[in-house]
Amino acid sequence: QAGDARKVALVFGGSRGIGAAAVERLAREGHAVAFTYVSRPDAAEALVSKVAVAGGAALAIQADSADPAAIRAAVEQAVAHFGGLDTVVVNAGILRLGSVDTVSLEELDQMIAINIRGVYLAIQAAIPHLPDGGRIVTIGSNTAVRTGHPGSSVYQFTKAAVAAMVKGIALDLAPRGISVNNVQPGPIDTDMNAGAIEMLAEKSPMRRVGRPAEIGGLIVWLAGPDAGYMTGESLTIDGGWVL
Ligand code: NDP
Repeated sequence: QAGDARKVALVFGGSRGIGAAAVERLAREGHAVAFTYVSRPDAAEALVSKVAVAGGAALAIQADSADPAAIRAAVEQAVAHFGGLDTVVVNAGILRLGSVDTVSLEELDQMIAINIRGVYLAIQAAIPHLPDGGRIVTIGSNTAVRTGHPGSSVYQFTKAAVAAMVKGIALDLAPRGISVNNVQPGPIDTDMNAGAIEMLAEKSPMRRVGRPAEIGGLIVWLAGPDAGYMTGESLTIDGGWVL
């Protein structure tokens, strides 16, 4: 829209799934959108082309959210390319399932590095570039507030940590009018749930999983002009999941 015409967004983990939906929606609303990816340059380039065909501008940046230097470099590259930064969406996250008695130290450290430390560092790197009134949106999970499935204890606590950090960071940034909110999706039709979609749909009160675009819509609203007085919140969007 006209008001957002020159705004710039950066989506961490934007090449597929929920992040890609956020990239597309932000671009449609008039943002120039940089996004990171780690393992799928093909998906990243396809998304850049898709946004361009729709009349938008996107930039793909390879940056592993487990790597603090890569996170900082991605922010610098986005700012240099598009001339600023107004909105940050921190979506990059991984799911590794394992019962508490089987989770390895490597898996534990990797999930903490990407799902918790990577989120914090992405926000930290972006702050100096954000204007007063800027927007930060993280992607947590409904498992932070609902009982998850067996084997998801690590995932669950990493997402609870995101909800907690958002509350604290929101207070730090409130004097500058920068809002910080956390979207907590339930099961969504993405590669993360490959092979489990039907099982998840059966367990859902709505008998379906969510669509990435339904999460993208909430992200765009939080990034938009109507959401400026909401901060520190975690918004659960999961079809009424009650497990
Ligand atoms: P997908 O696995 O479908 O996509 C993950 C995206 O994040 C890809 O773009 C991937 O890049 C990127 N990514 C993964 N690891 C890294 C990393 N180390 N550094 C940079 N980018 C990375 O995930 P979803 O879209 O399903 O999930 C997105 C977020 O939403 C995650 O935080 C997830 O925990 C959360 N979530 C998902 C739910 C679901 O049901 N799907 C439910 C609740 C929360 P690449 O393409 O290069 O691999």
